[in-house]
Amino acid sequence: MKKILVTGGCGYIGSHTLIDLISNGFDVISIDNHLRSHQQQLDAVEKITGRKIKNHIIDLCNAEAVHHFFETEKNIDGIIHFAALKSVPESVADPMFYYHNNLQSLINILVSAQKNNIKHFVFSSSCSVYGNAKELPVTELTPLQNAESPYGYTKQIGERIIADFATTHPEMNFILLRYFNPVGAHESALIGEVPFDKPNNLVPIITQTAIGKINSLTVFGNDYDTKDGSCVRDFIHVMDLANAHTKAMEHLTHHKNQTNYNIINLGSGNGYTVLEAIHAFENATAQKLNYTIGGRREGDTIAVYADITKATTTLGWKPTRDINTMMLTAWNWEKKMNQQ
Ligand code: NAD
Repeated sequence: MKKILVTGGCGYIGSHTLIDLISNGFDVISIDNHLRSHQQQLDAVEKITGRKIKNHIIDLCNAEAVHHFFETEKNIDGIIHFAALKSVPESVADPMFYYHNNLQSLINILVSAQKNNIKHFVFSSSCSVYGNAKELPVTELTPLQNAESPYGYTKQIGERIIADFATTHPEMNFILLRYFNPVGAHESALIGEVPFDKPNNLVPIITQTAIGKINSLTVFGNDYDTKDGSCVRDFIHVMDLANAHTKAMEHLTHHKNQTNYNIINLGSGNGYTVLEAIHAFENATAQKLNYTIGGRREGDTIAVYADITKATTTLGWKPTRDINTMMLTAWNWEKKMNQQ
């Protein structure tokens, strides 16, 4: 059984990926310092999978602690590196926090992986690296524009760091997954996205508005050059996204990779405007949302959606859950969180 280290395993995408990895026969272990998560998410994963999962509470920015972890935890076959800070507005307000946390942690884990002979590495990147792309849908070959936020730059620079590391360490193999907009929750409603402080992503804002935690939802801008003036996003269900990580790790461990540095887009391939997403939520859940139109928000990309041909042909992966399922599972999770 291959053993995979998942960093950020108590976070939103990491925890859903643990489930998919376990259900596909992988052994898993996590590092998460709970900077943006709680142990409860992992407890719920254990409930769903029936498997005890060890999380090491380590700050990945602490090189010595990371080194010590690998001294004691042997036989790791691959790493999926999720751990990072992810809020665009927070990164605009405090860029150094973002550069330090997201890049120092990446450097430490890469160096330790290499020293410990761990050859398979999957990195969480983001469509934010494309900035305001000139052509849509974006493929992996679409030229990168300036990122729209320090967060986006941490992903552009992170990709660059891995590219240079892959060149000097040809024995290691990397898949960089550029996620579009992960949404929804596990069908059990036992885990989902737990926004830290104030939610910044659209779907948690929608569900919190519907449940009454937020009075009214603001649509940031309706004067963009899009079909209804609001921003366009490509939403992908978190369990579909999770499964792409399993497929990426299988691809690496089965030695199917033809290059040791591979970038792959993960989205649904469909662009929905923010207003369309709001209406999809209303239709899927029969809830009426209270929303208003506000001004544009700094750091927002106008429109982005993915060409996912490479993911389907290289990994044999295909998203299976539609926007209604995304909204319904997110809503079920929100209701469950409020019962606790
Ligand atoms: P999340 O905040 O839910 O999870 C990230 C986890 O990493 C948290 O549990 C946090 O405690 C942990 N972490 C952060 N810094 C750490 C450190 N220095 N040491 C140890 N643990 C640390 O975020 P998520 O939504 O699960 O995102 C996972 C990855 O996917 C991130 O790299 C994020 O940038 C990327 N991503 C997310 C989205 C999204 O919309 N959710 C979109 C594109 C890319």
